[in-house]
Order: sequence, then C-alpha cells, then structure tokens
Amino acid sequence: MNQILITADRLWDGSGAATMQRPVVRVAAGKIDSVEGALLSPATCSGERVDFPGCTILPGFIDTHVHLVMGALDTSAAIIEQIAGDSEAQLLARIEGNARKALSVGLTTVRDCGGTKTHVQQVRDRIRRGEIVGPDILACGSPITTTLGHCHWLGLVADSYEEVERAAQRMLAEDVDFLKVMATGGNMTPTSNPMTAQYNARTLARITEIGRNANKHAAAHVLSQAALASVVAANYRTIEHCDWRVEEWRYEFDPELARRMIDQNQFAGLTMSGFTRRAFDPRLRNLDLPPIKRLDARFACERQMIDFGVRYTLHTDAGVTLCPIEKFALGMRAAEVELKLTPSEVLRAATSSAAEAICLPDRGVLQAGKRADLVVAEGDPTRDLQALENIRAVMKAGVWYHRLPV
Ligand SMILES: [Zn+2]
Repeated sequence: MNQILITADRLWDGSGAATMQRPVVRVAAGKIDSVEGALLSPATCSGERVDFPGCTILPGFIDTHVHLVMGALDTSAAIIEQIAGDSEAQLLARIEGNARKALSVGLTTVRDCGGTKTHVQQVRDRIRRGEIVGPDILACGSPITTTLGHCHWLGLVADSYEEVERAAQRMLAEDVDFLKVMATGGNMTPTSNPMTAQYNARTLARITEIGRNANKHAAAHVLSQAALASVVAANYRTIEHCDWRVEEWRYEFDPELARRMIDQNQFAGLTMSGFTRRAFDPRLRNLDLPPIKRLDARFACERQMIDFGVRYTLHTDAGVTLCPIEKFALGMRAAEVELKLTPSEVLRAATSSAAEAICLPDRGVLQAGKRADLVVAEGDPTRDLQALENIRAVMKAGVWYHRLPV
C-alpha cells in the first residue's frame, strides 16, 4: 500500500489537546493511518516522505456557511444584480472558481448555505468525480424563503405550510445534503425585515421533520429573537448567525433558550463576514452601516452565549459583501479579536466543532482512521493565527492539492 509520511515541527490535532512536537503523520488509502510523536527511522518509510520544517500540521478547515455563487462585491445590490444578470455558464464558473480558491487556503470542506438552482450540486459532483479541483461541498440548493423574503432572488419562494413542504421535498429531489430556511429576514434583502419571523413555529418544525425523514440535517438563518425560540424548538442542527437581537439596537441573551440549545446539542453558527474584520481593515470602521454599528453589542451577546456553554462554529458567510472566500484566515483572526477567543478555540470552531455541527464524523481531527484532510501552515497558528495566511500545503482525502516549497 502506498504510504505518505509527513513531518513538521508541530501538530495540532483539532481536539483541543496540546500541540504535539516533531509529529509524524502516516497517510494511506486516503485516511490517516497514524499520528506519532517521534520520528520514525527511514527504513519504515515505504512511500513518499514530505518534511515541513518550521511548520504546523492541522486538520483541514471547514467553513460551515459560504455562498459559492456570490461574488463578494462591495454592495449587496451589486451581488444580487450580478447573479440576476449572469448566464448559467457564468454562475457555474464563479462557483468553480470560489471552490478552487477555498481549497487553496486550506478549506477541505465547505457547506454552501444558498445558491441558484442545482448549480452548487453540479460543482460538488464534478469535484467528487475528480473533474475539477475543490473542497468537499455540502449543498442546500437554495434556501427556503418567502415572497420578497431574505434571498428570494435565489429562487426558492414558499409562503404557506404546504408550499414550504413542497419546497423542502423539491430540494431533496434535487439531491441536496441539508435543508436551509430563512427563518427571519436578512440584511442583504431590503424587502425583508431581520426583526420579523418569516415562518411560524409549525412550518419551521415541518422542515426539520422532512429533513430527519431523509436523514439530512437542517440549518436556519436567524437574525433576531423573532424566530429563535421556534428554531430551537424545531431542533435545527445549526442556527446560522444566531442573533439574540430583540430590538433594532438591543441584544438580550436568553439563558433558558441557550440551555435548551445545549441539551439538544445544537450549534450556533457565528458569522465572521467582511464587516466583522474591522480590526484589520480601516475602510470598514468608517462605513456608516447598521450591521457595523451593532457589532459591539452583537459580540458582547455572543461572548455571553459562549461563556454559558452553547456550542458554536465560526463561519465566514463567504461571498457576501467584502467577503471573498480566500480571506478565510482574516475571518478567523477577527473572531479571536472580537470574541476574545484563544487561537486554539478559534481553530477548534473551524475544525472538530464544525465537523460535528454539520454531521461529518469522518473529519475535523487528525486521528487514526479519519479522512486525511490536512493543512500545513508556516509557523505556529496555535500561538498566532496570522500563520493561517501562510498555508504551505493542503491535502484532501490523502491527495495533495496544493504544495509550495518550504
Ligand atoms: Zn449566508
């Protein structure tokens, strides 16, 4: 059996355990065969051996919320207009391009939270067949939303209980990996209102039920408490954004709801999109936009939620305004600053916690038997997340996709 032996200065395995010094990772048949802490004698190498002095080996990163079809332009209006004006070929080309960029920065898995028609599934399948290069993609097709509701321009409008049922069934027929609903309005769509629920509790519960019957998880977009209680009650696996806003400028953490989220092992998907990177981009600090002006209150509430013990992932919402997918590292660095997390906590949210949140038990940690999805970063990202901006190598399922000379 052809083996690959990888060595580096250190390894962080995704579980949160201490960094291992002088690791040797043995990969065979697309999986991790072993992770050991002492250098083996050369005689035991039967295949390729690759050394990364000065580097750290980590699990491949997982972004649990991206939009591969979106162009990360300067305004939401421009993004919407671009999608409306593009041909099928242009939409597919953008999805493919974003997928390629994602893999090059270390994302070996992304969950696409809303695209057009079956385009994301088509790209997912082409990657799976080895025709093009990209991360593993989990697709929801389009998100279920109301007439003129959040992201209605992606094309899956359903208002009544029966229409929502049909929309969810249609997504399953179009071979999606999970279901996504816009439970409240969103900032991107001016005809929608983030402060109001788009569906009642019964309708939201029907979506998770349809998903469960097909063995698929479900994700709900929640930008205020108007829908949070019913999304928790319906046991959505991931609550995207998980905003605790009760009024335009006021956030209010609810320990009772949070307790239920913990009991049901639900995950909050915390959004580190373009606006949140204000610490690294002076241009953003000067923008007079409500989502930016609300950031301090939002992060304070999210920190409360983390301290309470709610499980979370950190995602970028890549594709939205000023948020290109290749800037993944900047989103993670912003989480460290804004949510006062340690680098290891940030990394866990984008590896092992992310894998668990989106129901992929075969990845997210570097342990024997797991898929060989790994990233080699120059330096030590467990001390300084800026190291994520210097990715030396990316392996997905035992295959090198991107390897720069050290
Ligand atoms: Zn989104």
